[in-house]
Amino acid sequence: MSSGIVTSAYIAASILFILSLGGLSNQESARRGNLYGMIGMAIAIVATIASNNVNAYTTIIILMVIGASVGMFVAMRVEMTAMPQLVAMLHSFVGLAATLVGFASYIDHSIVLEGAEKTIHDVEIYLGILIGAVTFTGSIIAFGKLQGVIGSKPLMLPGRHLINAAIGIACIWLGSVFLGSESTADGMLPLIAMTILALIFGVHMVMAIGGADMPVVISMLNSYSGWAAAATGFMLSNDLLIVTGALVGSSGAILSYIMCRAMNRRFVSVIMGGFGTTSSSSATSEAGEYVATNIDEAAELLREASSVIIVPGYGMAVAHAQHPVSELTRILKEQDTSVRFAIHPVAGRMPGHMNVLLAEAKVPYDIVLEMDEINDDFKDTDVVIVIGANDTVNPSALDDPSSPIAGMPVLEVWNARNVIVSKRSMAVGYAGVENPLFFHDNTKMLFGDAKDSVDGLVAALAAR
Ligand code: NDP
Repeated sequence: MSSGIVTSAYIAASILFILSLGGLSNQESARRGNLYGMIGMAIAIVATIASNNVNAYTTIIILMVIGASVGMFVAMRVEMTAMPQLVAMLHSFVGLAATLVGFASYIDHSIVLEGAEKTIHDVEIYLGILIGAVTFTGSIIAFGKLQGVIGSKPLMLPGRHLINAAIGIACIWLGSVFLGSESTADGMLPLIAMTILALIFGVHMVMAIGGADMPVVISMLNSYSGWAAAATGFMLSNDLLIVTGALVGSSGAILSYIMCRAMNRRFVSVIMGGFGTTSSSSATSEAGEYVATNIDEAAELLREASSVIIVPGYGMAVAHAQHPVSELTRILKEQDTSVRFAIHPVAGRMPGHMNVLLAEAKVPYDIVLEMDEINDDFKDTDVVIVIGANDTVNPSALDDPSSPIAGMPVLEVWNARNVIVSKRSMAVGYAGVENPLFFHDNTKMLFGDAKDSVDGLVAALAAR
Protein backbone atom coordinates (compact mmCIF):
# COMPACT_ATOMS: atom_id res chain seq x y z
CA MET A 1 0.00 0.00 0.00
CA SER A 2 1.43 3.41 -0.93
CA SER A 3 2.44 5.77 1.87
CA GLY A 4 -0.23 8.27 0.71
CA ILE A 5 -3.01 5.75 1.29
CA VAL A 6 -1.53 4.78 4.67
CA THR A 7 -1.41 8.46 5.70
CA SER A 8 -5.05 8.95 4.60
CA ALA A 9 -6.07 5.87 6.59
CA TYR A 10 -4.21 7.23 9.62
CA ILE A 11 -5.99 10.58 9.32
CA ALA A 12 -9.36 8.78 9.10
CA ALA A 13 -8.47 6.68 12.17
CA SER A 14 -7.38 9.80 14.10
CA ILE A 15 -10.69 11.53 13.32
CA LEU A 16 -12.61 8.43 14.44
CA PHE A 17 -10.63 8.34 17.73
CA ILE A 18 -11.50 12.00 18.39
CA LEU A 19 -15.18 11.32 17.60
CA SER A 20 -14.97 8.28 19.88
CA LEU A 21 -13.73 10.36 22.83
CA GLY A 22 -16.48 12.91 22.14
CA GLY A 23 -19.10 10.13 22.11
CA LEU A 24 -17.85 8.57 25.34
CA SER A 25 -18.43 11.81 27.25
CA ASN A 26 -22.20 11.27 27.22
CA GLN A 27 -24.26 8.19 28.13
CA GLU A 28 -26.62 8.46 25.16
CA SER A 29 -23.75 8.58 22.66
CA ALA A 30 -21.33 6.23 24.47
CA ARG A 31 -22.28 3.18 22.39
CA ARG A 32 -21.67 5.14 19.18
CA GLY A 33 -18.39 6.43 20.63
CA ASN A 34 -17.23 2.85 21.23
CA LEU A 35 -18.14 1.90 17.68
CA TYR A 36 -16.12 4.81 16.24
CA GLY A 37 -13.15 3.71 18.35
CA MET A 38 -13.40 0.10 17.14
CA ILE A 39 -13.67 1.12 13.47
CA GLY A 40 -10.76 3.56 13.90
CA MET A 41 -8.58 0.86 15.45
CA ALA A 42 -9.50 -1.66 12.73
CA ILE A 43 -8.51 0.88 10.03
CA ALA A 44 -5.26 1.65 11.89
CA ILE A 45 -4.28 -2.03 12.19
CA VAL A 46 -5.11 -2.89 8.56
CA ALA A 47 -3.28 0.21 7.23
CA THR A 48 -0.19 -0.49 9.37
CA ILE A 49 0.01 -4.14 8.33
CA ALA A 50 -0.48 -3.23 4.68
CA SER A 51 2.15 -0.46 4.77
CA ASN A 52 5.53 -0.93 3.11
CA ASN A 53 7.31 -0.91 6.50
CA VAL A 54 5.84 -4.27 7.46
CA ASN A 55 6.84 -7.59 5.95
CA ALA A 56 7.00 -10.19 8.76
CA TYR A 57 3.37 -11.17 8.17
CA THR A 58 3.56 -14.64 9.69
CA THR A 59 5.01 -13.39 12.97
CA ILE A 60 2.47 -10.55 13.13
CA ILE A 61 -0.51 -12.80 12.45
CA ILE A 62 0.62 -15.40 15.02
CA LEU A 63 1.14 -12.68 17.66
CA MET A 64 -2.17 -11.00 16.83
CA VAL A 65 -4.06 -14.29 17.16
CA ILE A 66 -2.40 -15.00 20.54
CA GLY A 67 -2.98 -11.42 21.79
CA ALA A 68 -6.57 -11.24 20.57
CA SER A 69 -7.40 -14.66 22.08
CA VAL A 70 -5.97 -13.71 25.49
CA GLY A 71 -7.72 -10.31 25.32
CA MET A 72 -11.09 -11.85 24.40
CA PHE A 73 -10.78 -14.56 27.04
CA VAL A 74 -9.97 -12.07 29.80
CA ALA A 75 -12.53 -9.45 28.72
CA MET A 76 -15.36 -12.00 28.52
CA ARG A 77 -14.61 -13.45 31.95
CA VAL A 78 -13.86 -10.28 33.89
CA GLU A 79 -16.46 -9.18 36.42
CA MET A 80 -17.63 -5.58 36.17
CA THR A 81 -16.23 -5.05 39.68
CA ALA A 82 -12.76 -6.14 38.52
CA MET A 83 -12.68 -3.80 35.51
CA PRO A 84 -10.30 -1.23 37.13
CA GLN A 85 -7.73 -3.99 37.74
CA LEU A 86 -8.01 -5.04 34.10
CA VAL A 87 -7.49 -1.44 32.98
CA ALA A 88 -4.44 -1.15 35.27
CA MET A 89 -3.05 -4.39 33.83
CA LEU A 90 -3.57 -3.16 30.25
CA HIS A 91 -1.74 0.10 31.07
CA SER A 92 1.19 -1.98 32.28
CA PHE A 93 1.36 -3.65 28.85
CA VAL A 94 1.56 -0.24 27.15
CA GLY A 95 4.40 0.72 29.51
CA LEU A 96 6.25 -2.54 28.86
CA ALA A 97 5.76 -2.19 25.09
CA ALA A 98 7.16 1.38 25.14
CA THR A 99 10.19 0.19 27.14
CA LEU A 100 10.90 -2.74 24.80
CA VAL A 101 10.38 -0.66 21.65
CA GLY A 102 12.80 1.93 23.11
CA PHE A 103 15.56 -0.65 23.56
CA ALA A 104 14.83 -2.23 20.16
CA SER A 105 15.04 1.19 18.50
CA TYR A 106 18.34 1.94 20.25
CA ILE A 107 20.04 -1.24 19.10
CA ASP A 108 18.50 -1.11 15.61
CA HIS A 109 21.53 -0.50 13.37
CA SER A 110 19.38 0.15 10.31
CA ILE A 111 18.58 3.59 11.79
CA VAL A 112 21.64 5.70 10.96
CA LEU A 113 21.31 9.29 12.17
CA GLU A 114 23.78 12.11 12.62
CA GLY A 115 24.01 15.34 14.66
CA ALA A 116 20.76 16.96 15.87
CA GLU A 117 18.62 14.18 14.38
CA LYS A 118 20.51 11.56 16.39
CA THR A 119 20.18 13.64 19.58
CA ILE A 120 16.42 14.04 19.05
CA HIS A 121 16.05 10.31 18.40
CA ASP A 122 18.05 9.49 21.56
CA VAL A 123 15.92 11.88 23.64
CA GLU A 124 12.78 10.14 22.31
CA ILE A 125 14.24 6.76 23.25
CA TYR A 126 15.28 7.93 26.71
CA LEU A 127 11.91 9.56 27.52
CA GLY A 128 9.93 6.66 26.02
CA ILE A 129 11.77 4.12 28.17
CA LEU A 130 11.56 6.35 31.27
CA ILE A 131 7.79 6.91 31.04
CA GLY A 132 7.20 3.32 29.90
CA ALA A 133 9.12 1.77 32.81
CA VAL A 134 7.36 3.98 35.41
CA THR A 135 3.99 3.12 33.84
CA PHE A 136 4.84 -0.60 33.77
CA THR A 137 5.66 -1.13 37.46
CA GLY A 138 3.26 1.60 38.68
CA SER A 139 0.38 -0.14 36.89
CA ILE A 140 1.34 -3.55 38.28
CA ILE A 141 1.28 -2.16 41.83
CA ALA A 142 -2.07 -0.42 41.12
CA PHE A 143 -3.39 -3.78 39.86
CA GLY A 144 -2.16 -5.50 43.05
CA LYS A 145 -3.79 -2.88 45.29
CA LEU A 146 -7.13 -3.01 43.47
CA GLN A 147 -7.09 -6.82 43.37
CA GLY A 148 -6.34 -6.89 47.12
CA VAL A 149 -3.05 -8.78 46.59
CA ILE A 150 -1.22 -5.77 48.06
CA GLY A 151 -2.69 -3.86 51.05
CA SER A 152 -4.46 -0.63 50.09
CA LYS A 153 -2.81 1.37 52.91
CA PRO A 154 -0.01 3.66 51.69
CA LEU A 155 3.50 2.36 52.33
CA MET A 156 5.58 5.28 53.51
CA LEU A 157 9.34 4.76 53.50
CA PRO A 158 11.25 7.22 55.73
CA GLY A 159 12.62 10.05 53.58
CA ARG A 160 10.54 8.98 50.60
CA HIS A 161 10.46 12.48 49.07
CA LEU A 162 14.25 12.51 49.24
CA ILE A 163 14.36 9.08 47.57
CA ASN A 164 12.10 10.38 44.77
CA ALA A 165 14.20 13.53 44.36
CA ALA A 166 17.41 11.45 44.27
CA ILE A 167 15.91 9.16 41.60
CA GLY A 168 14.84 12.24 39.58
CA ILE A 169 18.31 13.81 39.76
CA ALA A 170 19.99 10.48 38.92
CA CYS A 171 17.75 10.08 35.86
CA ILE A 172 18.66 13.58 34.61
CA TRP A 173 22.39 12.87 35.11
CA LEU A 174 22.15 9.44 33.45
CA GLY A 175 20.31 11.16 30.58
CA SER A 176 23.22 13.55 30.00
CA VAL A 177 25.70 10.63 30.10
CA PHE A 178 23.50 8.69 27.65
CA LEU A 179 23.22 11.60 25.20
CA GLY A 180 26.97 12.20 25.38
CA SER A 181 27.91 8.56 24.71
CA GLU A 182 29.90 7.83 21.57
CA SER A 183 28.62 4.34 20.76
CA THR A 184 25.59 2.11 21.39
CA ALA A 185 27.66 0.01 23.79
CA ASP A 186 28.62 3.14 25.81
CA GLY A 187 25.04 4.38 25.97
CA MET A 188 23.60 1.05 27.01
CA LEU A 189 24.85 1.23 30.60
CA PRO A 190 23.21 4.57 31.55
CA LEU A 191 20.08 3.48 29.67
CA ILE A 192 19.81 0.25 31.68
CA ALA A 193 20.63 2.06 34.95
CA MET A 194 17.87 4.64 34.26
CA THR A 195 15.41 1.84 33.39
CA ILE A 196 16.07 0.11 36.73
CA LEU A 197 15.60 3.42 38.59
CA ALA A 198 12.37 4.15 36.67
CA LEU A 199 11.04 0.66 37.49
CA ILE A 200 11.82 1.27 41.19
CA PHE A 201 10.23 4.73 41.03
CA GLY A 202 6.98 3.27 39.61
CA VAL A 203 6.75 0.82 42.53
CA HIS A 204 7.71 3.43 45.13
CA MET A 205 5.30 6.09 43.82
CA VAL A 206 2.18 3.91 43.71
CA MET A 207 2.98 2.00 46.94
CA ALA A 208 2.84 5.37 48.78
CA ILE A 209 -0.64 6.16 47.47
CA GLY A 210 -3.63 5.11 49.59
CA GLY A 211 -6.55 3.06 48.32
CA ALA A 212 -9.02 5.93 48.26
CA ASP A 213 -6.80 7.79 45.78
CA MET A 214 -6.64 4.80 43.43
CA PRO A 215 -9.15 6.22 40.91
CA VAL A 216 -6.86 9.19 40.36
CA VAL A 217 -3.83 6.91 40.11
CA ILE A 218 -5.54 4.76 37.48
CA SER A 219 -6.37 7.74 35.30
CA MET A 220 -2.89 9.19 35.90
CA LEU A 221 -1.32 5.91 34.72
CA ASN A 222 -3.74 6.00 31.80
CA SER A 223 -2.28 9.39 30.96
CA TYR A 224 1.32 8.11 31.36
CA SER A 225 0.58 5.14 29.10
CA GLY A 226 -0.64 7.62 26.46
CA TRP A 227 2.56 9.69 26.67
CA ALA A 228 4.61 6.48 26.54
CA ALA A 229 2.73 5.50 23.35
CA ALA A 230 3.30 9.00 21.90
CA ALA A 231 7.03 8.71 22.64
CA THR A 232 7.01 5.31 20.88
CA GLY A 233 5.28 7.01 17.92
CA PHE A 234 8.16 9.51 17.70
CA MET A 235 10.74 6.69 17.88
CA LEU A 236 9.02 4.75 15.10
CA SER A 237 8.06 7.89 13.12
CA ASN A 238 4.46 6.74 13.27
CA ASP A 239 2.07 9.73 13.15
CA LEU A 240 -1.00 7.78 14.23
CA LEU A 241 0.72 6.49 17.37
CA ILE A 242 1.75 10.07 18.21
CA VAL A 243 -1.82 11.37 17.75
CA THR A 244 -3.41 8.45 19.64
CA GLY A 245 -0.85 8.64 22.44
CA ALA A 246 -1.44 12.38 22.80
CA LEU A 247 -5.22 11.85 22.89
CA VAL A 248 -4.92 9.18 25.62
CA GLY A 249 -2.28 11.19 27.49
CA SER A 250 -4.26 14.41 27.57
CA SER A 251 -7.67 12.83 28.23
CA GLY A 252 -6.16 10.83 31.13
CA ALA A 253 -4.62 14.01 32.54
CA ILE A 254 -7.94 15.90 32.23
CA LEU A 255 -9.80 13.00 33.92
CA SER A 256 -7.24 12.96 36.77
CA TYR A 257 -7.81 16.69 37.24
CA ILE A 258 -11.61 16.32 37.24
CA MET A 259 -11.40 13.46 39.77
CA CYS A 260 -9.07 15.41 42.04
CA ARG A 261 -11.56 18.27 41.98
CA ALA A 262 -14.41 15.83 42.81
CA MET A 263 -12.44 14.54 45.81
CA ASN A 264 -11.24 18.03 46.79
CA ARG A 265 -7.64 16.83 46.52
CA ARG A 266 -4.68 18.53 44.93
CA PHE A 267 -3.13 16.46 42.16
CA VAL A 268 0.35 17.03 43.57
CA SER A 269 -0.73 15.82 47.03
CA VAL A 270 -2.17 12.64 45.45
CA ILE A 271 1.14 11.96 43.73
CA MET A 272 3.04 12.71 46.94
CA GLY A 273 1.00 9.90 48.49
CA GLY A 274 0.26 9.18 52.11
CA PHE A 275 -3.52 9.67 51.96
CA GLY A 276 -5.32 7.34 54.40
CA THR A 277 -2.61 6.91 57.01
CA THR A 278 -4.21 8.97 59.78
CA SER A 279 -7.12 7.44 61.62
CA SER A 280 -10.44 9.20 61.92
CA SER A 281 -11.41 10.67 65.24
CA SER A 282 -15.05 10.22 64.26
CA ALA A 283 -14.54 6.47 64.48
CA THR A 284 -14.90 6.69 68.21
CA SER A 285 -16.64 10.01 68.85
CA GLU A 286 -19.69 9.38 66.67
CA ALA A 287 -20.12 5.65 67.22
CA GLY A 288 -23.32 4.99 69.09
CA GLU A 289 -26.56 3.12 68.64
CA TYR A 290 -27.71 2.25 65.15
CA VAL A 291 -31.24 1.22 64.27
CA ALA A 292 -31.77 -1.92 62.22
CA THR A 293 -34.85 -2.27 60.06
CA ASN A 294 -36.40 -5.05 57.96
CA ILE A 295 -37.91 -5.46 54.50
CA ASP A 296 -41.52 -4.83 55.61
CA GLU A 297 -40.71 -1.62 57.49
CA ALA A 298 -38.53 -0.34 54.65
CA ALA A 299 -41.22 -1.21 52.07
CA GLU A 300 -43.78 0.69 54.16
CA LEU A 301 -41.57 3.80 54.18
CA LEU A 302 -41.23 3.55 50.39
CA ARG A 303 -44.97 3.07 49.94
CA GLU A 304 -45.68 6.28 51.86
CA ALA A 305 -42.93 8.29 50.13
CA SER A 306 -43.69 10.68 47.30
CA SER A 307 -40.00 11.28 46.51
CA VAL A 308 -37.18 8.74 46.61
CA ILE A 309 -33.49 9.05 45.73
CA ILE A 310 -31.43 5.89 45.24
CA VAL A 311 -27.68 6.16 45.95
CA PRO A 312 -25.77 3.20 44.53
CA GLY A 313 -22.20 2.30 45.49
CA TYR A 314 -19.65 -0.46 45.17
CA GLY A 315 -21.86 -2.94 47.10
CA MET A 316 -24.54 -2.74 44.39
CA ALA A 317 -21.93 -3.85 41.85
CA VAL A 318 -20.67 -6.70 44.08
CA ALA A 319 -24.21 -7.95 44.73
CA HIS A 320 -25.27 -7.58 41.04
CA ALA A 321 -28.28 -5.72 42.39
CA GLN A 322 -28.73 -3.36 39.42
CA HIS A 323 -31.55 -5.38 37.80
CA PRO A 324 -33.74 -5.59 40.95
CA VAL A 325 -32.92 -1.88 41.54
CA SER A 326 -34.26 -1.14 38.06
CA GLU A 327 -37.39 -3.20 38.85
CA LEU A 328 -37.83 -1.32 42.15
CA THR A 329 -37.62 1.97 40.22
CA ARG A 330 -40.33 0.81 37.83
CA ILE A 331 -42.68 -0.23 40.64
CA LEU A 332 -42.16 3.01 42.57
CA LYS A 333 -42.82 5.07 39.44
CA GLU A 334 -46.01 3.07 38.85
CA GLN A 335 -47.21 4.16 42.29
CA ASP A 336 -46.50 7.78 41.24
CA THR A 337 -43.40 8.19 43.38
CA SER A 338 -40.66 10.42 41.99
CA VAL A 339 -37.50 8.28 41.76
CA ARG A 340 -34.04 9.57 40.89
CA PHE A 341 -30.50 8.28 41.23
CA ALA A 342 -27.60 10.23 42.76
CA ILE A 343 -24.18 9.27 41.41
CA HIS A 344 -20.98 10.23 43.18
CA PRO A 345 -18.03 10.73 40.77
CA VAL A 346 -15.95 8.02 42.51
CA ALA A 347 -18.75 5.63 43.52
CA GLY A 348 -17.75 2.02 42.85
CA ARG A 349 -14.26 1.21 41.69
CA MET A 350 -13.87 3.19 38.49
CA PRO A 351 -15.20 6.41 37.01
CA GLY A 352 -18.66 5.81 35.52
CA HIS A 353 -18.98 2.39 37.23
CA MET A 354 -22.52 3.06 38.48
CA ASN A 355 -23.68 4.66 35.24
CA VAL A 356 -22.60 1.58 33.27
CA LEU A 357 -24.43 -0.81 35.62
CA LEU A 358 -27.62 1.25 35.65
CA ALA A 359 -27.55 1.61 31.85
CA GLU A 360 -27.10 -2.18 31.56
CA ALA A 361 -30.22 -2.62 33.75
CA LYS A 362 -32.13 -0.19 31.49
CA VAL A 363 -32.62 2.55 34.07
CA PRO A 364 -33.62 5.67 32.05
CA TYR A 365 -30.69 8.12 31.69
CA ASP A 366 -32.78 11.18 32.57
CA ILE A 367 -33.31 10.08 36.20
CA VAL A 368 -29.62 9.34 36.79
CA LEU A 369 -28.08 12.56 38.11
CA GLU A 370 -24.55 13.59 39.02
CA MET A 371 -23.69 14.69 42.58
CA ASP A 372 -23.67 18.41 41.78
CA GLU A 373 -27.05 18.22 40.08
CA ILE A 374 -28.85 16.53 42.98
CA ASN A 375 -27.00 17.29 46.23
CA ASP A 376 -29.29 20.21 47.14
CA ASP A 377 -32.44 18.10 46.64
CA PHE A 378 -31.93 15.64 49.52
CA LYS A 379 -33.55 18.00 52.01
CA ASP A 380 -36.83 17.84 50.06
CA THR A 381 -36.75 14.04 49.73
CA ASP A 382 -38.85 11.58 51.75
CA VAL A 383 -36.64 8.49 51.48
CA VAL A 384 -33.06 7.92 50.36
CA ILE A 385 -32.00 4.32 49.78
CA VAL A 386 -28.24 3.88 49.98
CA ILE A 387 -27.38 0.61 48.25
CA GLY A 388 -23.86 -0.62 49.03
CA ALA A 389 -22.36 2.89 49.23
CA ASN A 390 -20.29 3.99 52.19
CA ASP A 391 -17.39 6.47 51.72
CA THR A 392 -19.36 8.51 49.19
CA VAL A 393 -22.12 9.23 51.76
CA ASN A 394 -19.85 9.77 54.78
CA PRO A 395 -20.65 13.05 56.61
CA SER A 396 -17.26 13.06 58.37
CA ALA A 397 -15.77 14.15 55.01
CA LEU A 398 -17.49 17.50 55.63
CA ASP A 399 -17.54 17.89 59.39
CA ASP A 400 -14.44 16.11 60.72
CA PRO A 401 -11.23 17.87 59.62
CA SER A 402 -9.14 14.99 61.06
CA SER A 403 -10.89 12.40 58.87
CA PRO A 404 -8.70 10.85 56.16
CA ILE A 405 -11.42 11.77 53.65
CA ALA A 406 -11.86 15.33 54.99
CA GLY A 407 -12.71 17.75 52.21
CA MET A 408 -14.00 15.13 49.77
CA PRO A 409 -17.40 16.28 48.51
CA VAL A 410 -20.03 13.66 49.43
CA LEU A 411 -23.70 13.02 48.76
CA GLU A 412 -25.50 14.72 51.64
CA VAL A 413 -28.10 11.96 52.07
CA TRP A 414 -28.57 12.66 55.80
CA ASN A 415 -30.57 15.81 54.90
CA ALA A 416 -33.45 13.62 53.67
CA ARG A 417 -36.36 12.77 55.99
CA ASN A 418 -35.48 9.04 56.07
CA VAL A 419 -32.36 7.16 55.03
CA ILE A 420 -32.33 3.39 54.47
CA VAL A 421 -28.82 1.91 54.19
CA SER A 422 -28.59 -1.50 52.54
CA LYS A 423 -25.34 -3.33 53.36
CA ARG A 424 -24.34 -6.58 54.97
CA SER A 425 -22.76 -5.35 58.21
CA MET A 426 -21.34 -2.28 59.96
CA ALA A 427 -18.04 -2.78 58.08
CA VAL A 428 -16.14 0.21 56.66
CA GLY A 429 -15.86 1.08 52.95
CA TYR A 430 -12.81 1.29 50.70
CA ALA A 431 -11.11 4.17 52.54
CA GLY A 432 -11.34 2.22 55.81
CA VAL A 433 -13.16 5.06 57.60
CA GLU A 434 -16.08 4.67 60.06
CA ASN A 435 -19.32 6.23 58.84
CA PRO A 436 -21.30 8.35 61.36
CA LEU A 437 -24.28 8.34 58.94
CA PHE A 438 -25.22 4.88 60.22
CA PHE A 439 -25.81 6.31 63.70
CA HIS A 440 -27.97 9.28 62.66
CA ASP A 441 -31.53 9.40 64.07
CA ASN A 442 -33.13 9.31 60.62
CA THR A 443 -30.99 6.38 59.36
CA LYS A 444 -32.16 2.76 59.39
CA MET A 445 -29.81 -0.11 58.56
CA LEU A 446 -31.23 -2.81 56.26
CA PHE A 447 -28.70 -5.62 56.72
CA GLY A 448 -28.15 -8.30 54.09
CA ASP A 449 -26.85 -8.79 50.57
CA ALA A 450 -28.04 -5.83 48.47
CA LYS A 451 -29.61 -8.06 45.80
CA ASP A 452 -31.58 -10.07 48.38
CA SER A 453 -32.70 -6.86 50.13
CA VAL A 454 -33.84 -5.13 46.94
CA ASP A 455 -35.50 -8.35 45.69
CA GLY A 456 -37.34 -8.38 49.05
CA LEU A 457 -38.45 -4.75 48.65
CA VAL A 458 -39.67 -5.43 45.09
CA ALA A 459 -41.68 -8.46 46.28
CA ALA A 460 -43.14 -6.55 49.25
CA LEU A 461 -44.17 -3.55 47.12
CA ALA A 462 -45.54 -5.71 44.29
CA ALA A 463 -47.56 -7.84 46.71
CA ARG A 464 -49.83 -4.93 47.48
P1 NDP B 1 -17.36 1.82 49.53
O1 NDP B 1 -16.26 0.99 49.01
O2 NDP B 1 -17.05 2.97 50.39
O3 NDP B 1 -18.39 0.90 50.33
C1 NDP B 1 -19.02 -0.18 49.74
C2 NDP B 1 -19.92 -0.82 50.80
O4 NDP B 1 -20.65 -1.84 50.12
C3 NDP B 1 -19.13 -1.49 51.91
O5 NDP B 1 -19.19 -0.73 53.10
C4 NDP B 1 -19.80 -2.87 52.04
O6 NDP B 1 -20.30 -3.03 53.38
C5 NDP B 1 -20.97 -2.82 51.05
N1 NDP B 1 -21.13 -4.09 50.35
C6 NDP B 1 -20.17 -4.88 49.83
N2 NDP B 1 -20.71 -5.96 49.28
C7 NDP B 1 -22.05 -5.86 49.48
C8 NDP B 1 -23.16 -6.69 49.14
N3 NDP B 1 -23.02 -7.85 48.49
N4 NDP B 1 -24.39 -6.27 49.48
C9 NDP B 1 -24.57 -5.10 50.15
N5 NDP B 1 -23.56 -4.28 50.49
C10 NDP B 1 -22.31 -4.67 50.14
O7 NDP B 1 -18.24 2.26 48.26
P2 NDP B 1 -18.57 3.67 47.61
O8 NDP B 1 -19.08 3.34 46.25
O9 NDP B 1 -19.41 4.51 48.52
O10 NDP B 1 -17.19 4.43 47.52
C11 NDP B 1 -16.19 4.04 46.60
C12 NDP B 1 -14.83 4.03 47.28
O11 NDP B 1 -13.92 3.37 46.42
C13 NDP B 1 -14.28 5.41 47.53
O12 NDP B 1 -13.50 5.42 48.70
C14 NDP B 1 -13.41 5.65 46.30
O13 NDP B 1 -12.41 6.63 46.52
C15 NDP B 1 -12.84 4.25 46.12
N6 NDP B 1 -12.41 3.94 44.78
C16 NDP B 1 -13.14 4.41 43.72
C17 NDP B 1 -12.73 4.16 42.44
C18 NDP B 1 -13.49 4.80 41.31
O14 NDP B 1 -12.90 5.12 40.28
N7 NDP B 1 -14.81 4.94 41.44
C19 NDP B 1 -11.52 3.32 42.15
C20 NDP B 1 -10.86 2.82 43.35
C21 NDP B 1 -11.30 3.15 44.61
P3 NDP B 1 -20.54 -4.50 53.98
O15 NDP B 1 -19.26 -5.21 53.87
O16 NDP B 1 -21.00 -4.24 55.37
O17 NDP B 1 -21.62 -5.12 53.15
